[in-house]
Amino acid sequence: MVNTQTKLREVKLFINGEYVDSSTNSLFEVKNPATQELIAKVHEASFEDIDSACLAARKAFEEGPWRTMPVSERCSKIRRMAEIILERKEELARLEALDVGKPFQVALENEIPRAANNLKFFADFMEQQGGEVYPMDDNFLNYTRYEPVGVAALITPWNLPFMLTTWKLGPCLATGNTAVIKPAETTPLTVSLLGEIAKEAGIPDGVVNVVHGFGAQSAGQYMTTHPEVDLISFTGETTTGKAIMKSGADSLKKVSFELGGKAANIIFEDANLDKAISVSIQAAFMNSGQVCLAGSRILVQRTILDEFIERFKGAASQLVVGDPQDASTNMGPVVSEEHYKKVTSYLDIATYENSQLISGGKRPELASHLSTGYYLEPTIYLQENPNARICQEEIFGPIVTIIPFDTEEEALRIANGTDYGLNAVVWTENLQRAHRISHDVRAGTIWVNCWFVRDLRAPFGGFKKSGVGREGGHHSLEFFTEAKNICIALK
Ligand code: NAD
Repeated sequence: MVNTQTKLREVKLFINGEYVDSSTNSLFEVKNPATQELIAKVHEASFEDIDSACLAARKAFEEGPWRTMPVSERCSKIRRMAEIILERKEELARLEALDVGKPFQVALENEIPRAANNLKFFADFMEQQGGEVYPMDDNFLNYTRYEPVGVAALITPWNLPFMLTTWKLGPCLATGNTAVIKPAETTPLTVSLLGEIAKEAGIPDGVVNVVHGFGAQSAGQYMTTHPEVDLISFTGETTTGKAIMKSGADSLKKVSFELGGKAANIIFEDANLDKAISVSIQAAFMNSGQVCLAGSRILVQRTILDEFIERFKGAASQLVVGDPQDASTNMGPVVSEEHYKKVTSYLDIATYENSQLISGGKRPELASHLSTGYYLEPTIYLQENPNARICQEEIFGPIVTIIPFDTEEEALRIANGTDYGLNAVVWTENLQRAHRISHDVRAGTIWVNCWFVRDLRAPFGGFKKSGVGREGGHHSLEFFTEAKNICIALK
């Protein structure tokens, strides 16, 4: 085990190209969820600090070279950021494991490289963009420019902090905007380094600012009401999205929201069960189930229910729950004490609702240094009632529910019987059925015989209460730009 735990870090704000203290000298604590050990003291941004960050971003937008720089030059600096991230990937992965509690190996092999790729992808993609041209007879010519909007507030959650922040920062910067970033208060460590990485890559001061703090009545709300902020890109809970939409309404801010999910993972009797089970285990328990795209409602056709339960339970028992810093660990703790209480409250709710516990449901037995960590075994319930709370509410932890169904129509009704619509997964060898289900499930992404496969050009976002707008490829570029039409008389 690498000894990352013992060092107590001080995390400062990064405003206008330098690290600064909170103006009110207010600091909050961050703990390692695997041990409850104090790992960082973080400077909380006051209203004055948010004001400084927003004004620095405004000045860098209006006066700086960033917006007007040749696209190729801007994009090469963003690509340099990606390279620096890869050069520092071990350090970043250690930090991500430390404050999120996710397995280091997963952060090292997947999330940190994906974060670098988010920046590189949007830099490359931006350079390939053209525009629209509409000649009107031979008298007039219309052409379109896509110009940056201004100062963007990028607010991100704790489950995939670095990856999700770069997913917003890439298109924000590539299109010439400036940014004030706020990571979640529980997991600020990796994102706090983005300002210095941008500076080292040659990005001008004020273009990338990073602030820290909480949501309501704190940094988050100050950002979303600040008059210098033009647009808000937010990923987090549906209820927070509603609050932010209200906060931004007075100044008519442009918003893009990626919100909660409660995906149906539908397994038909003709599915390739070997593949369905190994991927469904990932979909259920990756990142301790703290994934918006988690397949937490597992709909199984009754004819294969017994076999599925046996094999799925067996696969869950193979997962190594342990120290996030160990290379062999598949599943760590959940992120914080508050979240642990929320997740484990569903154990009582499940019992009250007469759900049948298939496996898990208690703290795993672990090495003594993890005895205070926020651990829960991979937990599987069987529930016949798709309207039960554990089938409807986003638990966002290592708890999944198997819901039996008899017919395709019933599966579809259950899949759509929720307020969320982020994604769904379908397992079948019948091509017509795969298409039918994909068309009829109301969700932004449908995976057929796979899960979590992402082409960064493709649209990503939620139907219903799972989001507003789309990210990915040109969808992200459209959000971060204003289209301008120029009409020229040719005669
Ligand atoms: P959260 O909504 O509690 O917090 C997200 C961020 O918003 C944090 O930085 C927080 O400080 C800030 N915030 C909270 N209240 C605010 C307010 N009133 N004004 C401004 N900012 C505020 O979410 P979380 O608990 O950190 O993350 C888990 C949620 O995120 C889950 O619902 C999950 O499904 C969702 N999520 C969605 C996606 C997606 O792509 N759709 C991806 C990851 C996570």
